[in-house]
Amino acid sequence: MRIRNKLALGFIIVVLLQVVITAVGAWRDDKIIPVIAARAAEDTAGAIALSLVRQGESIRTPPIYANPVALQHYINDLNVLKKNNIEVVNRNKKIIGSVIPGDVGKIYSHDVNNQVGRTIRDGLTRTFIEKSQKYPQGINLIVTPLRMEQGRINGAVIMEYTPLLEEMAKEKEKKIKLMIYLTFFCLLTGFGIAFFFSRSVALPISKLTAAVERMTQGDMDTPIAVKRPDETGDLAKAFETMRKGMKETLLKLQTEISDRKLAAGDLEQRSLEIMLLSELGNMLQTCLTAEEAYETITRYAEKLFPGDTGAVYQFRASRNLLEAVSRWDKSSSVEEAFLPEECLALRLGRVHRVDDVNSGPLCPHVHKEGSLGYSICIPMMAQSETIGVLHLESGQAKAGQREWARKQWTAEKQRFAVAVAEHVSLALSNMKLRETLRNLSIRDPLTGLFNRRYMEESLEQELLKAKRYGRSLGVIMLDIDHFKRFNDTYGHEAGDLVLRELGVFLQNHIRVTDIPCRYGGEEFALILPEADMELTQQRAEQVRQGVATIRVKVQGQTLASITVSEGVAVYPGNGPTGQDVLRAADEALYRAKLMGRNHVAIAEGASPETEKPS
Ligand code: GH3
Ligand code: MG
Ligand code: MG
Repeated sequence: MRIRNKLALGFIIVVLLQVVITAVGAWRDDKIIPVIAARAAEDTAGAIALSLVRQGESIRTPPIYANPVALQHYINDLNVLKKNNIEVVNRNKKIIGSVIPGDVGKIYSHDVNNQVGRTIRDGLTRTFIEKSQKYPQGINLIVTPLRMEQGRINGAVIMEYTPLLEEMAKEKEKKIKLMIYLTFFCLLTGFGIAFFFSRSVALPISKLTAAVERMTQGDMDTPIAVKRPDETGDLAKAFETMRKGMKETLLKLQTEISDRKLAAGDLEQRSLEIMLLSELGNMLQTCLTAEEAYETITRYAEKLFPGDTGAVYQFRASRNLLEAVSRWDKSSSVEEAFLPEECLALRLGRVHRVDDVNSGPLCPHVHKEGSLGYSICIPMMAQSETIGVLHLESGQAKAGQREWARKQWTAEKQRFAVAVAEHVSLALSNMKLRETLRNLSIRDPLTGLFNRRYMEESLEQELLKAKRYGRSLGVIMLDIDHFKRFNDTYGHEAGDLVLRELGVFLQNHIRVTDIPCRYGGEEFALILPEADMELTQQRAEQVRQGVATIRVKVQGQTLASITVSEGVAVYPGNGPTGQDVLRAADEALYRAKLMGRNHVAIAEGASPETEKPS
């Protein structure tokens, strides 16, 4: 229940109590007034009776009641002074004195139950009501005995006490009226106080309650506008201070929570990135070829830079062009190749980043005009050599993702991209190094053909395959005729040049699966997987004829034409092992020399073929 209602109820209860008390008082008055009036009348009547009896006794004259004239005077005086209507009767109820002189001598008969006669008999004071047609409302009367000193009763005094009763009733009415006025006054005062109290206490309290409800619903911004110069004002001030404090704390908490969320998200992202980066490093280690490595980079770049497009560019061997060896999101505008001078990162020798492609100096190889986002080029260094560029730009793909990516482009992300570039460049450079080393170990530096060791290994390998699949394998041994003469005539360099040119010729006139080797000095071997004797012999012949067409020029001078002698052997015809086949081919070569050089000779034991002279 609201305070103002409680107050009003309280006052109503108080007022009702007041009304009840007043009513009980009035009821009590109704009961007690006749008694009090009768008592007063009794006293008066008693005093009159006494004075009527005693006066005569003390001055030795007959008492007043015995003297009709004196009695009449006395009664008249009393009537004038006290407005008391008195009648005095003797023992026989005969009126001996009355305010109505005409009644004197009559027998008193207004007592319905003979109250006067009974008083005269037993000496007890009685009250009674005289009702007549003249006084229908009744006249209140009291009868007191006229008791002599000896105790004898000589008559009675009958006195009317209605005026006293009426006066008292009037007083009672006045009192009730006063009580009613007071009650109304109290009621009004009570309502006034309740209204005032409700305004000064209940209203601010309800405002405070509303403010607290707002606060519990999360509204910490609306100030508590209760300004009063009393305790409720102090309470409101305290609430306002509390609201401000809570708002500040809430803000701090919200900031802290979002910071922590971001930090947790960042941490998760970092650990994911680190995991992916280490995975990329491991995967690149396992790559055998550059192509495999490029594919791995593409696959991981999509995960490492979600929402970004980009490419890894690598210098061509000539270093005059950078080619995209790995591109992710191929639908983007990322270039496939560009000149070194078209990349600002290469020109500056450091990372070049543009946060807004519309305002920053963009690399000429980046085409993002009219779009939003960033662009970054990271030079890839390995063994103090720039091997290429890692390029990233904000993707166009999904709505919102670009904005997200831009927002997320932080120094942290840049560090990560640089780390990726370092990993990739290290891996690519290692791969290049590995390839170079491998080439060094398997290739002859002068001709670029495989060396003898590699040839022997390959021969074993190819023979295994041939055996497994039941296929044949051809071997051609080849020796330059009179090579010594080239050295002797034109110098050692010219001899080297002849060897190199022959190497190039062989490289260009064999199948991809064939293996050309420099066997030693001016001797060469060709391994032809899956070739039988006929085919091998045919190819040997083609080579012999082709070599004869090679023209080598040294310092403007064309050297004498080159001829070669060739020995041909096949697996399985010339033996089950590589050594057998090689030996057979070598013997055939020897025979070709013997035949006068510029000849193709087939190994003995193979299916008979005619040895073809030039
Ligand atoms: P044949 O027709 O009998 O094969 O005569 P040939 O002169 O070719 O054979 P020979 O074995 O007499 O001479 C081979 C020469 O090749 C000897 C060596 O000096 C020369 N030679 C070996 N390796 C190289 C090389 O790498 N460069 C140069 N310029 N000459 C080499
Ligand atoms: Mg020779
Ligand atoms: Mg030789």
